[in-house]
Amino acid sequence: MPTRYITASIPYVNAEPHIGHALEFVEVDMLLRYYRALGETVRGQYGSDDNSLKNVRAAQAAGEDVEVYVARHSQVFKELQGLLNLSFDDYIRTREDRHMRGAQKLWSLMNPEDIYVKEYEGLYCVGCEIFYTDKDVVEGSCPIHKRPLEIVKEENFFFKLSKYQKVLEDLIVSDKLKVVPESRKNEALGFIRQGLEDFSISRSVARAENWGVPVPGDEGQVMYVWVDALSNYINALGFADNDQAYTTFWEKAEVRSHVIGKDIMRFHVIYWPAFLLSAGLPLPTEVFVHGFLTVEGEKMSKSIGNVIAPKDLVADFGVDAVRYYFLRELPSGADGDVSKARLEERYAELANDLGNLMGRVAAMSNKYFEGAVDKVPFDHAELDVRMGEALKQYDFKDYIDTVWTVVNAANLKIQTEEPFKLAKTDPVAAKKSLSELAAMIVWIGHALMPVIPAAAAEILRRYTGDKLIHGEPLFPRRDQEIKE
Ligand code: ZN
Repeated sequence: MPTRYITASIPYVNAEPHIGHALEFVEVDMLLRYYRALGETVRGQYGSDDNSLKNVRAAQAAGEDVEVYVARHSQVFKELQGLLNLSFDDYIRTREDRHMRGAQKLWSLMNPEDIYVKEYEGLYCVGCEIFYTDKDVVEGSCPIHKRPLEIVKEENFFFKLSKYQKVLEDLIVSDKLKVVPESRKNEALGFIRQGLEDFSISRSVARAENWGVPVPGDEGQVMYVWVDALSNYINALGFADNDQAYTTFWEKAEVRSHVIGKDIMRFHVIYWPAFLLSAGLPLPTEVFVHGFLTVEGEKMSKSIGNVIAPKDLVADFGVDAVRYYFLRELPSGADGDVSKARLEERYAELANDLGNLMGRVAAMSNKYFEGAVDKVPFDHAELDVRMGEALKQYDFKDYIDTVWTVVNAANLKIQTEEPFKLAKTDPVAAKKSLSELAAMIVWIGHALMPVIPAAAAEILRRYTGDKLIHGEPLFPRRDQEIKE
């Protein structure tokens, strides 16, 4: 059994969480629950990027103390664990001592030949917190924020990224650093093959507004926020103090996996591995890059006013239906859309395909056999293989589609075998049919634990005792709810 470490990326806390954060957290949680159930030693990590200058700007705009503002916002992200029924093992804030010391340790371990001082003048975007080269600039403005770039001139530390071009290319080509999906792997390789340039990994304390992780041995500089932020993944394991968790889940773990959005791929498949190589530390083994969500076909944005908070979606549809939507609706790694109409359709799938199936079999068993069915086997070896393969490719949708072949087969079985008729003519055959259906439903319950943990646990509660329990609908019809 491999040991596995899976992380979500750490968001800036300059705004409330949106459904893009929820999507990523739910994806990681599905993996955590799936691999734990297999018996693997698994650890899941999430947290917040507190050191970003964006947080400082947001606090200033709100007229609040930065430390207070960041702490309060970080807490909201942390609480998604309860809201979305997540099972992360730990949450790290990059203002924490364990992180600050870890980031400094990583810096100190990097090969001294890879870090040099250079006078630098460049076009800088405060929003992105990166320097742009001329080829990226669109009419003097940031290609993302569309606002004029600042000319910034100062002495910084630089990292010799160019030195790592070949080794990074080889790692990604060989899948030693496996980038999923394939399209993102090709994109990463394309970027590397264009040529990697050295880049600034510090900024003056003044430009950083005295916020961030100090560079060891130079009081005038703080680390470029990505240098410290990326190290959260090992700092959360106690890298600074060489804790046992660091040994178990980083040094010795067979799988070290980062789940991220497409906008930060470059940092995770190029910068982060390069820092680790320079420091002589193990690299991540896998990076899964998910797509972005649109809302009703439009890009989410504050100005359009279509940003959806996870808590509103959960209040409307319930946590299981929201998780199910994120995990089944989006093609693996591709962009997806959140629309009210599709949410209703997906909810109806849960209510009709799954909820009714469970209700009908329990009802018939109770009506004809006082709830008692025989324990019969259900052969699921091939299904397990296909689901395992799906999750190896982070294909959450294919996993659920596979489970649904059994949901559909069970519904068809009721239609063709008609146990409700058989009960009157051939009770033995009726009981056999219901027993086989119950075995399928128990398997479905186990298979859906990583997807819809609360509903799946309820399925198992009703179906694994001496008698099947016929209870309230698992997913009540929404039109009825609205009428009430
Ligand atoms: Zn920008």
